[in-house]
Formats: sequence, structure tokens, C-alpha cells
Amino acid sequence: MAAHATRSHPMTRIGFIGLGIMGSPMASHLAKAGHEVLGHTLNTDAYRRLEADGGRGVGSIAEAVKDAEVVITMLPNHPQVEQVVLGEDGVFAHAPQGALLIDFSTIRPESSIAIAEAGAAAGFRVLDAPVSGGQVGAEQATLSIMVGGTEYDFASATSIFEAVGKTFVHVGAHGAGQVVKAANQLVVGGTYALVAEAIVLMEALGVDAGKGLDALAGGLAGSRILEVKRKTMVAREFTPGFRIDLHHKDMGIIADAARQGDVALPTAALVASLIAAGRAQGHGSLDHSALLKVIENLNGRGEK
Ligand code: NAD
Repeated sequence: MAAHATRSHPMTRIGFIGLGIMGSPMASHLAKAGHEVLGHTLNTDAYRRLEADGGRGVGSIAEAVKDAEVVITMLPNHPQVEQVVLGEDGVFAHAPQGALLIDFSTIRPESSIAIAEAGAAAGFRVLDAPVSGGQVGAEQATLSIMVGGTEYDFASATSIFEAVGKTFVHVGAHGAGQVVKAANQLVVGGTYALVAEAIVLMEALGVDAGKGLDALAGGLAGSRILEVKRKTMVAREFTPGFRIDLHHKDMGIIADAARQGDVALPTAALVASLIAAGRAQGHGSLDHSALLKVIENLNGRGEK
């Protein structure tokens, strides 16, 4: 499982691009672990937290990466990652030769493979390292990290993974991390859909869903989602967290991967439709636990 090594690591110079819901706490953990972190992001208010934790916000990608040993990206999707990494003013144009790029974003596997190939041609090492654990996992540095790339590069990134995560597994070659993350998002989306149906069922029959889910959480139906999200779901609190829009993106990655692998995933298709309905109903910027609103709408229950 996790390849934990000793915690007495030398300080690493890190350029961190993308300080959003996930990237901001991850960059802070790296700075607090003693690494030199230069952050760059579009939402510059995030620099306050990074600087309070010992890092520094800078005005360009070039400035963030020019002396970096490790460059980290935590961006919404493949167009942003490709622009930031491969663009004219991007990472590969400005980082020192031999630097290691760790892309923590969730993107399609073929983009990760293409970035790794472009990196190799330009003298850079690349890992795809998407994460699971949500905002809570990022804040608590307990993320699970699924890593694609070479064994050597995986081993050299141990101190980075230890600062932001609890479990990190080398799952295969370039792109394999993204394939595992697609499988993760399938299980997460399906679980949310079923928890939403369980709430609607219990409430329709006059049972207290909060108490019901407390019982479910302790039995075979128990899951990390029930553990951290059941109370907010029953209370209808849908502040993200992980936005429906991003999960919609991930269901597209799953559909493409299924086609590429020549496999039928009927439940994935159903879950993708429910998430698409959430977006169509105007809930794209809510947390993905708002799948509950979709199931309620199907049943003429709850608020629109
Ligand atoms: P977010 O939208 O909160 O953050 C994205 C950040 O990227 C923003 O700070 C934005 O300013 C920055 N950005 C975008 N384009 C940029 C550019 N050209 N240059 C510099 N910065 C740029 O998204 P998030 O929720 O932090 O998710 C990031 C990635 O992590 C996504 O791929 C998502 O699927 C994945 N992920 C999210 C969660 C979660 O719970 N939020 C969990 C696991 C994985």
C-alpha cells in the first residue's frame, strides 16, 4: 500500500499552479512541511493563506517554476493543464531541465500520456497523480493518491505525497493514475445516487433519515461518504466541496475510458445522466451530494 518513507526529507523548491478548493490547502501543507513553495493561480486571494503558512504567491507561471525542482499542477481539467504545462509561457518553457511535474488534477488519461511524452522530449519527468478524499481530505492532508509514471519518479516524490496524503499507490505507467481515478469517481457518483435514494425513501415513509443513515453507516452499507456527508445531506447543505460541474467532467472521462476499453458500464451511464440532470437543473456549482435534489425532483419532492 502506501510507500511511506522516513519524514526527514530535505527541503524541495516547489512551483505550485492552481490554488483552488484542493490546491490551496495542499500548497499550505507543503509549505508547513518545510518546502519552499511558490504558488501561482487566477484567484489571487488564495495567496493570503499560502503566505500565512510560509509560501509565496507570484504573478506568473514562469516566476513560480523557474528554479523549481518539483512543479505541481492542481487545475480543473485538461485544457487548463495543457495550457499551463505546454503553453508558450508554460511550465515546460520555464522550468529547469530535469524538474519533476506532478499533476494532481483529474483529467483524461490520454492527456496525461501526451503531457508525459512531451515532457520526456523536453527533458522533464512527469507523474499523473489524481487524488481522492475531497476538500476534507485536502484540508486534513489525508488524500488518497493514485500515481501513474515510472517507479523511480514515484519514489522520488515520497516527501511531497507524505505532506498532502495518507495513502499513495503507484498504480502503473503514465495515465494509469487517471484510469484509477475514473474508477474512483464511478464508485463515488454511484454511492451518492444511492444514498440520495435512501434518504428520499426513508422520508417518504415517515422515517427520520438522519437516524436511518446513522444505522446504515455502521453496517455493510457504511462508507466514507456516509461517514463525512450524511449529516450535511440530510440538512440539505450543498456548499462545495466537489462541484457537480467537475463530477460531470469526470463522468465524461469515464465514458471515454469505457469506450476505449470496449466495456459496457450500464450503471456509470445512469449515474452520468443523473449528474447531467443536476447540471441541467442549475445545480452545477453545488456539491455533488446535491444529487439528492435530482432524486427529489424526480419524485416531485423537496425544493426546486
Ligand atoms: P477549483 O476550481 O476550486 O480550483 C482550480 C484552480 O485552478 C483555481 O484556483 C483557478 O484559479 C486555477 N486555475 C485555472 N486555470 C488556471 C491558469 N490558467 N493558471 C493558473 N491557475 C489556474 O477546483 P478544485 O475543486 O480544487 O479541483 C481541482 C482538480 O482536482 C480538478 O481536476 C478536480 O476534478 C480534482 N479534484 C477535486 C476534488 C474536490 O473535492 N474539490 C477532489 C478530488 C479531485
